[in-house]
Amino acid sequence: MASIFSRIIAGQIPGDFIFREPRWVALLDIRPTSAGHALLIPLVEAPLLADLPPATLADAGRLLARLTRALKQVTGCPAVNIVLNDGPVAGQEVPHVHWHVVPRWPDDGRGYRFAPQPGTGLATLAADLATAWDTLDNDQ
Ligand code: AMP
Repeated sequence: MASIFSRIIAGQIPGDFIFREPRWVALLDIRPTSAGHALLIPLVEAPLLADLPPATLADAGRLLARLTRALKQVTGCPAVNIVLNDGPVAGQEVPHVHWHVVPRWPDDGRGYRFAPQPGTGLATLAADLATAWDTLDNDQ
């Protein structure tokens, strides 16, 4: 069954669109964390970021930056959280890639902080990751 986002993109369910491009759309979240909470969504219904076709993924930085500028201009927010929950264990509810762009204001009470832990074994972990990095290319 198509994801809720695919059904919005197809016009089967209403959505408040900010833009539509050949590979991406942005629309407002129906349950916003703050006014202007937007979702950047690829037309391709991939569940995880790394599943996206390289050409689609390559657009994302440009679109996130432009969407952030538009949100700041319209809402006056001085900052945003840009969040992607990549997998159900990370809190992803809709299995179709999407970035949240959430306007933030001083003392808005929304909060956002991962619980920090003492950093142990960082050098070993970094070395293991560097080895893994070298075995991968940008499209794997
Ligand atoms: P996530 O937990 O990262 O998968 O986020 C899913 C987001 O989709 C939530 O913030 C929902 O509020 C949002 N959402 C669910 N249904 C709709 C809808 N019909 N229109 C707009 N946003 C939606």
